[in-house]
Amino acid sequence: METTQAKAFGTETTIAPLQPMTIERRQPTAKDVEIDILYCGVCHSDLHTARNDWGGSVYPVVPGHEIVGRVLSVGGGVTKVKPGDLVAVGCMVDSCKQCSSCEEDLEQYCLNGFTGTYNGNDKHLNIQTYGGYSEKVVVDEHFVLTMPENLDPAAAAPLLCAGITTWSPLRHWNVGEGSKVAVVGLGGLGHMAIKLANALGAHVTLFSRTPGKTQDALDLGAHEVVISTDADDMKKVNGKFDIIIDTVPYVHDLNPYVATLAINGTLVVVGYLGPLEHMLNTVPMILGRKTVAGSVIGGIAETQEMLDFCGKHNIVSEIETIKIQDINEAFERMVKSDVRYRFVIDMASLKG
Ligand code: NAP
Ligand code: ZN
Repeated sequence: METTQAKAFGTETTIAPLQPMTIERRQPTAKDVEIDILYCGVCHSDLHTARNDWGGSVYPVVPGHEIVGRVLSVGGGVTKVKPGDLVAVGCMVDSCKQCSSCEEDLEQYCLNGFTGTYNGNDKHLNIQTYGGYSEKVVVDEHFVLTMPENLDPAAAAPLLCAGITTWSPLRHWNVGEGSKVAVVGLGGLGHMAIKLANALGAHVTLFSRTPGKTQDALDLGAHEVVISTDADDMKKVNGKFDIIIDTVPYVHDLNPYVATLAINGTLVVVGYLGPLEHMLNTVPMILGRKTVAGSVIGGIAETQEMLDFCGKHNIVSEIETIKIQDINEAFERMVKSDVRYRFVIDMASLKG
C-alpha cells in the first residue's frame, strides 16, 4: 500500500522523551478522510502509553487521541464529510463493523477489539497506529466526527476523549434533572464530567485530594466539593450519590467511595486500569444493592451526540495551549496533577 510521510512527535522507548520523528500515513483509500491536524489534546492515557504503564506499548509511540482538524482530501466513496470541513477524531480509528457491539453503535466494545488511534493494530499498514501528535492523519470516514463550528476548535479537542469518556457513563446510567452525581479527581476527565453532569441537570459533587482546586470546581459547575483525604468531610456525604465517576489514574482504595453511594448507586471506574489494592468489601454492596462498574470511551454515534450537545450548550474544555516542543514538560506537570485542566497542542508548532 502506498504511503506518504508525515511529521510527528513520539518516543522510541519507555523512558526516552518525546522527540520529532517522521512517520508513514497511508494514501487515502475510497473510504478514507485525510485530515490536517490543527489541535490535539493531551490525555493521561498518552502518558500511560508512552511510558508503557499498561504493558503492550509498541515503539515508536506517537500519542494523541483528541484530534481536531480540517479535511484535506477524501476518497471517492466518502459521503460524510468534504474537503475544508472542521472534523475530529477520538480514541478509535477502526473496528470490525460486524459484531453485535459494532452493530449496536458500541464500537468501543467491539468483540474483535477496536483499533486505537495510537498503539492499535493498523489493518492497512500492518504496523501500530500513530496518533494525533502529528501534522496529519488518515481515517476511515466512519470514525470521523463533525465538529460544531461555534466551538473554539482548540478548547473542543478534549471533548474527543475526556468529554466522551465521561458523557457515556452519565448517559448510560440515565443522569438527568436532580440526579446526584459525584466525580473523583479534578483533571481532564474530571472537569468535563462536572460540566456535562451539570448541563444534564444533575447535582454535582467533586471529590478531590487538592483543596486548592475547590473554587475552580465550583466555577466549573460543581455544587459541592469534598476533600477525599478528610475523613469528616467524607462522612458528610455517606449514602448520597446515584452515580460516581472515578477518574483517578492510579491504584486507590474504592471502599470509601462505595460508602458514599445511595441504595442502588453505581461507582463507575474510568481512570485506573488494573487490579485493585484494598480489596473491595462486598458487604456495603450487598446490603445497599450497590454496583462497582467500568466504562471505556463511547461509541461513534454517542460521540457525535455529545459533540452536538456541547455545541448547543457551548461546552468546551478549560485548556492551556502548548507547543509540541513543550510536550515533555507537560507530561511531567500531568504526573503532578498540575494541569488546569487540559493541555492542548497547537499543531502549527510542529509544521513551522
Ligand atoms: P489527569 O488530567 O491527570 O487527572 C487525574 C486527576 O486524578 C488528577 O487531576 C487528580 O485530581 C487525581 N489524581 C491523580 N493522581 C491521583 C492519586 N494517586 N490518587 C488520587 N487522585 C489522584 O488525567 P485524565 O486525562 O483525566 O485521565 C484520568 C485517567 O483516565 C487516566 O488513567 C487515563 O488513562 C484514563 N482514561 C480512561 C478512559 C476510558 O475510556 N476509561 C479514557 C480516557 C482516559 P485531584 O487533584 O482533584 O485529586
Ligand atoms: Zn484519552
